[in-house]
Amino acid sequence: MIRQDPSRIDPKRRTGLNHRQKQFAAPTFQNVEYKHRLNFYIIPPTSDITLEQFEQWAIDRLRVLAELEACSFRNKSPAETATHMKPILDKYLPLSSSVSGSTALQNERQKDHYSHFILRLAFASTEDLRRRFARAESMLFRMRFQADDSKERQAFVESLNLDWETVGDDERREYAEQLRAAGGGYPKRIEEENYFKVDWERVPELVDSRRVFLKYGKAYVPGREQASIIVAEFTSRLEKDLELTARGLPRLDEDDRLAPILAHLSANFTTPDASYSSSQTALPGADISARNIDALSASFPLCMQSLHRSLRRDAHLKHYGRLQYTLFLKGIGLNLEECLLFWRTSFSKITDDVYNKEYRYNVRHAYGDVGGDSNRRGNGYSPFSCQKILTEHPPGPGESHGCPYRHFSIDNLTALLQNVGVKDQEVLRGVKEDKEKQKFHLACNRVFEYVHKQEIKKVRDEGTWGAAQLETIVHPNEYFKRSYLLKNMGNNPIESDGKDADVRMEG
Ligand code: SF4
Repeated sequence: MIRQDPSRIDPKRRTGLNHRQKQFAAPTFQNVEYKHRLNFYIIPPTSDITLEQFEQWAIDRLRVLAELEACSFRNKSPAETATHMKPILDKYLPLSSSVSGSTALQNERQKDHYSHFILRLAFASTEDLRRRFARAESMLFRMRFQADDSKERQAFVESLNLDWETVGDDERREYAEQLRAAGGGYPKRIEEENYFKVDWERVPELVDSRRVFLKYGKAYVPGREQASIIVAEFTSRLEKDLELTARGLPRLDEDDRLAPILAHLSANFTTPDASYSSSQTALPGADISARNIDALSASFPLCMQSLHRSLRRDAHLKHYGRLQYTLFLKGIGLNLEECLLFWRTSFSKITDDVYNKEYRYNVRHAYGDVGGDSNRRGNGYSPFSCQKILTEHPPGPGESHGCPYRHFSIDNLTALLQNVGVKDQEVLRGVKEDKEKQKFHLACNRVFEYVHKQEIKKVRDEGTWGAAQLETIVHPNEYFKRSYLLKNMGNNPIESDGKDADVRMEG
């Protein structure tokens, strides 16, 4: 697909290349015949496609992966995700079964195959992108695997030649008790289930949830858990291949047709909820000014309320807290002048000179007023999404940033919630359970629903807000926007535009 000049490879090195290195060996341009609907993407594509196809196919796949990520952030169940994804997959990445008799079958599979490899190139460059790409691709693979026709699925699994060891009858009987215990008492008669032995590292999900019996480093996986093994295998191969792709990336820099397309694609693999811009949160008529932040903070999510309280208590915030809070304030529509004024007045214990030397530049930088690297679009950084706050830069001693639902101890979290007025024991108990299950978004949304329960009931009863406007919040700025709109319904004619800007990927 991406032609490599064969003369650049030493002929002596060409022989003996393993299958992964073959992508850099002399290419044999040919059309592949796709026997199976599912694909482990082992062999890179080698036939020609146009530059337009290259870009369009990748963009179409990107839309699918973005929606899958959004479903995951919104804690949709597998069944809800499958229902939500069906029209999107039908539109952008259809994949008919072999028995469908579809004439588009080979073209669909080719697009699936090529688009996967194009995105590999686009997303191999950083660890974060590789991790997210592998996760989204694994979700897509799992969904397709589960939806596949059972005979076709079995034929596909057999074609993989995985080195699973079948557990023989004697061994199965010997460990019958342990096997049944791991299966929660299933099967009643051990003969009713087949088992495979694999290295335990290959099925971390099953080991984590104690759904397999372990012996001498091997996991005894029941046949009904086949999907887990296959998906784990898919993920681990993809992760390894992405690292190999990353190493080969510098060669691609020489291709000035592809490099800009790939850079554009990866720039658009923003976290679905990371692309929040101030125009999407704009609240026309609202007083978003330095002097009004104290009043507005009643509508802030807990992460930002916590930062605001620390700032008021200490007249200072450490670097990462300032960045998280500045970007949030920028996202709610506070302009640069007002933001500079806000920080200047908030840091009341320092002189103008110290403020100008040590803090002013960083605020301007966050707004894209100075600096270049991260200010690609001239607007500075985007406000942090929940995902970013939850997963990156956990706060250290003396720092106040992060997400209280994740980073605070349960006692400190409960105390903070009580301080901001959440005293209902049932809500606090629910938050504790959410935290224990690591469902931090749910805890935050639980509190949001409690704090706004009357207003939510009103917009529901009156039908003024649709379901999309009441979906799970996954961005602090969306929290503020909804909270502000709900709290100001009576004395402010502003209506939410209902755009969940935080769940769409550009491109
Ligand atoms: Fe803030 Fe998101 Fe945590 Fe809520 S879940 S407190 S909005 S980071």
